[in-house]
Amino acid sequence: LVLDEINIDGYKEIKRLCEAFNNMNKRIIELDKKRRQFVADASHELKSPLAGIKVLVESLQQGAMEDKNIRDEFLNSINNEIDRLSNLVNGLLELAQIENSDELRMSSLDIKELIKDVVKSLNPIAKNKNITINVEGEGIITYVNRDNMFRAIYNIIENAIKYSFEDSKIDILIEKDEQIKITIKDYGMGIPECDLPYIFDRFYRVDKTRARKTGGAGLGLSIAKHIIKLHKGDIEVKSKVGEGTAFIIKLPI
Ligand code: ADP
Repeated sequence: LVLDEINIDGYKEIKRLCEAFNNMNKRIIELDKKRRQFVADASHELKSPLAGIKVLVESLQQGAMEDKNIRDEFLNSINNEIDRLSNLVNGLLELAQIENSDELRMSSLDIKELIKDVVKSLNPIAKNKNITINVEGEGIITYVNRDNMFRAIYNIIENAIKYSFEDSKIDILIEKDEQIKITIKDYGMGIPECDLPYIFDRFYRVDKTRARKTGGAGLGLSIAKHIIKLHKGDIEVKSKVGEGTAFIIKLPI
């Protein structure tokens, strides 16, 4: 078409459509890049415990089996690597399940009761380290997907226990202004400032050797953030090495 023949409104409309199409295309390319990166990261994370297991089994086959102490140590390491793998696979399955649920089945419940249920289910782990968990603040009725919100809060309190020292405490405070604000504060090892911007990223662990001991796959916080975003909420973190960490969850009422 000769441009002169198109009236000016038609031309503007075509221009707008072109721009919308280009933006959509850019977004699809970005999403595809992210997905490829995710597959590459997940494969890498799966490969490293598998490689560890292979080396240990081969060493046992080549004679390490003869020495009872070495055999027990290697079998123990194999068991730990298997735990790491199953943590990772469970985390990946959970992430996929949450990302595939287009619509959240919401129900109205008291958020304080939900938090108390999470605390109850984590109490045995907390008791092992002699950690007490206090839940303060008002009960607030809100709409959430119970299973998902349980999982999000569980991951954060579980971390607070994992990264706390023995004989300490965790304070949970529920407040309400224009939003619901849940603060989960521990007095543990804290997170270095340089790591703070990345801790919600998938597979990100502050200290891989520390995470190896605690069995983390670096997925817990990204799952929690995803769930909170699906509820149109937000999560932030404040931390100081040696003093502790506070996660603040904000949810619409
Ligand atoms: P992981 O399964 O390794 O715990 P997460 O995604 O739950 O993975 O957490 C990411 C990283 O953030 C952890 O490896 C840990 O280093 C750090 N982290 C999370 N919560 C805390 C906390 N309460 N105190 C100190 N470090 C924490």
